[in-house]
Amino acid sequence: MGEQQKKHIAILGSTGSIGTQALEVVAENQDNFEVEVLTAGSNATLLIEQAKAFKPNVVVIGAEGKYDEVFAALDPLGIKVYAGDNALASVVEMDTIDMVLTALVGYAGLRPTLNAIEAGKNIALANKETLVVAGELVTSLAKEKGVNLYPVDSEHSAIFQCLAGEFHNPIEKILLTASGGPFRGKDRKFLESVTKEQALKHPNWDMGAKITIDSATLMNKGLEVIEAKWLFGLKKEQIDVVVHPQSIIHSIVQFEDGSMKAQMGLPDMKLPIQYALGYPNRLPSNFPRFNFLNYPSLTFEEPNTKLFRNLALAYEAMERGGNIPCVLNAANEVVVDAFLKDKVSFLEMPDIVETCMSKMSFIPSPEYDALVQTDKETRILASELIN
Ligand code: NAD
Ligand code: MG
Repeated sequence: MGEQQKKHIAILGSTGSIGTQALEVVAENQDNFEVEVLTAGSNATLLIEQAKAFKPNVVVIGAEGKYDEVFAALDPLGIKVYAGDNALASVVEMDTIDMVLTALVGYAGLRPTLNAIEAGKNIALANKETLVVAGELVTSLAKEKGVNLYPVDSEHSAIFQCLAGEFHNPIEKILLTASGGPFRGKDRKFLESVTKEQALKHPNWDMGAKITIDSATLMNKGLEVIEAKWLFGLKKEQIDVVVHPQSIIHSIVQFEDGSMKAQMGLPDMKLPIQYALGYPNRLPSNFPRFNFLNYPSLTFEEPNTKLFRNLALAYEAMERGGNIPCVLNAANEVVVDAFLKDKVSFLEMPDIVETCMSKMSFIPSPEYDALVQTDKETRILASELIN
């Protein structure tokens, strides 16, 4: 492929788990991809190192206090340096960008993602919180602008891969697989006293702290149910979750003739990242291959939503709709942060999320400003409930 056909990519959150793996994919496929923009929250050291290696035109550091350090290192190399949330939100509009990978974590992804869509950029979407908070706004804007949302989340990538060649065939249902996290099969007594250190040890995936805690509480799967609703235009009854501890089947689509298609492979996020960046092409890779003989049994169980209530709360939020998924997300971001600082216990997290969902006032069709307000008020309420 010549220089002309290279995809020019902006990676938002390049210093995180998804971001660094995306850069590994780019490094292995330099004929296909060119890095145009890199952004990070506060890790200036790694951002500088990445910029020296990948030579983007622009970098943005979220933390304004780190601007001088990044500028001093990169300006002499001809790399433009900006700082702060406004710069992050507007950098995605640059003419030279073909695709934006949203690999930053949480609600912070919403504004840059909306701006990127508004500017007509295709999105490789890792930041699931954006679709949870504003699925209606994001998907309708994408439709209006003719922008594609390519899922990076492994389950949604699996569904998307199963749908290739089937886009004219209605989906009967999908089955999202869940590893069950580090506390699968544990009882209430055990969960009462689990620590963040225990929760941060995920059996199958090495991810950022927030999503790792979400995986332990099953909130991650709840957020993914809502993400799937918006990506694939599904109703609540069409989305099932099945616990599959080996994480080999990444998800399943069931069609109206009863046939089911699954996408499989070893758990390695580089594969869904590469599929999203390279779509519609499957680029060759040297990722380790799956061997059935190393896995004599693939097992399946029902999720325990009585004990891991977040999954049930996410279904409830999806059913109520409006600003309630935004409430769920904001409350969750607050409690996860507090859990990581030892300020709430594991089982208090869903309690606080549930209280926020019952106390916040319902807005049936929120516009952007109403979502911003909901997010802000929910964070205040959740923080009060913690203290
Ligand atoms: P991470 O914590 O490892 O990295 C987050 C990145 O975002 C970092 O570069 C950080 O500097 C940046 N960032 C954080 N807060 C920011 C802010 N307020 N403003 C600007 N930048 C900010 O997270 P991750 O595990 O890579 O996850 C990123 C997203 O991808 C999340 O939405 C997560 O749910 C989703 N995801 C991750 C995985 C995975 O394997 N890690 C899998 C599926 C989906
Ligand atoms: Mg996932």
